[in-house]
Amino acid sequence: MADCLFCSIVAGDIPATTVLETDRILAFRDIDPQAPTHVLVIPKDHYPDAAALAAADAALLGEVFTGAYRVAAVEGIGETGYRVVFNTGADAGQAVPHVHGHVLGGRSLDWPPG
Ligand code: AMP
Ligand code: ZN
Repeated sequence: MADCLFCSIVAGDIPATTVLETDRILAFRDIDPQAPTHVLVIPKDHYPDAAALAAADAALLGEVFTGAYRVAAVEGIGETGYRVVFNTGADAGQAVPHVHGHVLGGRSLDWPPG
């Protein structure tokens, strides 16, 4: 989609550090990491948020979540634990309207979040 930051990363127009890629998903490091591991997992196709993706293509949402699990494994946090967060909408503070799962780990994570 035009003027979408993460679509531009998928297109290669904006650089990112790729951690994992399949034909339908991309995982790359967050530019402002909040934990030792902070990776974003996105579908290459544009959906505004997790709700829209779940409604349109539940299998693709499953691929995104499987990508999160694989990221955790390659980052070495599969055993120590990690969090997968899909900020959805304004109250959750979603800043980029292209669905993305944050994979956070490598330190003890506070709960509940702020
Ligand atoms: P959210 O608030 O859930 O929409 O999260 C958006 C995330 O995208 C934030 O954690 C940002 O640090 C991250 N971000 C913004 N621009 C970039 C970029 N160019 N490359 C990687 N991550 C980015
Ligand atoms: Zn997009």
